[in-house]
Amino acid sequence: QFQKSKGQHILKNPLLVQSIVQKAGLKSTDIVLEIGPGTGNLTMKLLEVCKKVVAVELDPRMVLEVTRRVQGTPYANKLQVIQGDILKTELPYFDVCVANVPYQISSPITFKLLSHRPLFRCAVIMFQKEFAQRLVAQPGDSLFCRLSVNTQLLARVFHLLKVGKNNFRPPPKVDSSVVRIEPRNPLPPINFKEWDGLIRLCFNRKNKTLGSIFRQKAVLALIEKNYKTFQALQEAGGSEARVPAVDPSILGDLGEDQSMEVDVNADGDGMEIEEEDGAQQGNTFFKEKCLGVLAEGGYEDKRSSKLTQDDFLRLLALFNKAGVHFT
Ligand code: SAM
Repeated sequence: QFQKSKGQHILKNPLLVQSIVQKAGLKSTDIVLEIGPGTGNLTMKLLEVCKKVVAVELDPRMVLEVTRRVQGTPYANKLQVIQGDILKTELPYFDVCVANVPYQISSPITFKLLSHRPLFRCAVIMFQKEFAQRLVAQPGDSLFCRLSVNTQLLARVFHLLKVGKNNFRPPPKVDSSVVRIEPRNPLPPINFKEWDGLIRLCFNRKNKTLGSIFRQKAVLALIEKNYKTFQALQEAGGSEARVPAVDPSILGDLGEDQSMEVDVNADGDGMEIEEEDGAQQGNTFFKEKCLGVLAEGGYEDKRSSKLTQDDFLRLLALFNKAGVHFT
């Protein structure tokens, strides 16, 4: 009996399994990480072409099943199965990740992989179609969001295959897509906490102009709080004030949680921040600072939904230069 709560939808189309393995471009020397091998349909094909598969599977019954499947075959000593939750397991070294994952944990899986070191060559992963579309969305696309910007900062993402529901047993309620994720190496030399802080604010209301976002009282209050923390840290110890630049592992989860079979059309760009209610009090100093930065870079009338990664990088640099921080 398959368990819906564990996202157990087994791939039953051998041609599709073959195609996923082929798209991973595996070498005979590769160590492959598989997340959620289930009954092992993908695992068996991976074992044919690589040096070793390390599979992490939560369900003990599936662990037993996939282990039994290789018993007495030449693949037995090429497969290591770790029973556990992928999000709580310390990942081993791997060259390539291939996975048909439980869709409920797509976002944390993606960022767990992208903060793993040493960097792997690529990951070929099946996701819910809408999640995959967000990963690859470009400025101006309707699904362009914080998840798109943050993933694309850390990796290049390519759409590989559309996969209909009927390729699975039992069929899920949603369509799927296979994507290829290639970590960027080196990463842009920025502070990722600062970056995500800015991106969160910008995508809270992605269709509003930045000018109107940085006039919101709650946004200005946050910037004022960050400013004070930053000053205090600097006084306390100087170098402690900044988180090391290139360390995405400081981020637990850079995207929004995506759940399967839920309202996939929801904007999903995080919590709403209360808008300025016209009060004139306080924050004038920070408002002028922020609007000054936006004017300097020509951002005041721009909307996050249309900005490129370079636009955001430049904006963050301008803000930081002016002493405005997002962490
Ligand atoms: N790879 C198999 C296939 O393609 O036929 C099964 C894919 S099924 C969508 C997802 C698998 O991930 C299930 O076997 C499920 O038990 C396992 N799983 C669910 N949550 C997990 C977690 N947190 N960590 C590791 N495996 C998990």
